[in-house]
Amino acid sequence: MAIHADDDHISGDVAPVIHLSTIYRYDNDPSKLKTAREIEGTDFDEIPFVYSRENQPNVARAEEVIGKITGGNAVLYSAGLSAFHAALTHLNPKKVFIGDGYHGCHGILSILERNYGTKVLTLADVESKVEAGDVVHVETPVNPYGLAIDLERYAKIAHAKGAKVICDATFAPPPILDPFALGADIVMHSASKYFGGHSDVLAGILVVKDQKTANALKDDRIFLGSICPTMESWLLLRSSRTFVSRVKQQFRSANEIVSYLSKNQEKLPKLKKIYHSSLQTEEFVKKQLPNGGPATFAIELDSGATARAFPSKLQYFTHSTSLGSVESLIEWRCMSDSGVADTLLRLSIGIEDTQDLIDDLVQALKQ
Ligand SMILES: *Cc1c(COP(=O)(O)O)cnc(C)c1O
Repeated sequence: MAIHADDDHISGDVAPVIHLSTIYRYDNDPSKLKTAREIEGTDFDEIPFVYSRENQPNVARAEEVIGKITGGNAVLYSAGLSAFHAALTHLNPKKVFIGDGYHGCHGILSILERNYGTKVLTLADVESKVEAGDVVHVETPVNPYGLAIDLERYAKIAHAKGAKVICDATFAPPPILDPFALGADIVMHSASKYFGGHSDVLAGILVVKDQKTANALKDDRIFLGSICPTMESWLLLRSSRTFVSRVKQQFRSANEIVSYLSKNQEKLPKLKKIYHSSLQTEEFVKKQLPNGGPATFAIELDSGATARAFPSKLQYFTHSTSLGSVESLIEWRCMSDSGVADTLLRLSIGIEDTQDLIDDLVQALKQ
């Protein structure tokens, strides 16, 4: 699927050609030239390439492949946050309900609140206050803990009142989680994480169920100026070939590591707490994540000083922010998130050998 969804683009090249041009030649046959007014109303994908802020071959091809992977119509943006902004611009809600989670999404909502008076409420308010036209934004599993939030429950309440649901599924890309099956109207991913997967792409994705909404998003994107750039689109296309294998390996490995740590926690006195959806006992979690929890999770150590020093004791984990890449990462989370305890570390499991990662964590926890 990820390898052959764009086979009809193939010329002589096996690897896709990189198109860096910002502009495209108009047809040399005068009878084929159409005025802007004549093009108005034409389906987005039927319009020939003109200018790369509107559309370009790398993005069109990456969207085709990522649409297949995500089971919908994918629209690519310059960042996860530009994708979220585009979803809000499209839905234009008066009220947005949002839980904990990625601080940048709260940042966009603060701008909308400041400029347009958009009301920002919490997920605890959904049941009593949601109305038609509102947006309920559910991030699951939620940053930085990797804990599942009951998307299906919020979607049912929202839909009963005529509100729309955005799901930020960055922590659980396909095939780990199917947000559409649980009621999401728009699925969002920071493609800078698992879809890019190599710590070298900044991009975002919105996935919608129908072509018409995808085209409306693409029309807005022309004027928001937030299309995924040419080189980044190409890198995403490159990364999409190995996407399913990488994600499966990362998720299997992370679940084994969490299981090992939780079973051996008594022997590791510095390890005070493990946060991961596989350790949650609520009924909905198994339905949402039938094959285990995310490859990003958090641990708490016995003191701020231990947590601060912990990344320096590891051999295979890079001390850095972000997640989802082939290399395992760890972050003393209070360095980039003002809302967490200084004992918290966030781990993102890469594609290294699982046993090597377990051994590395255990030797560091014993120091
Ligand atoms: C990283 C991230 C974002 C923002 O994505 P960018 O690509 O950095 O703009 C949004 N949500 C979650 C859960 C993330 O991890």
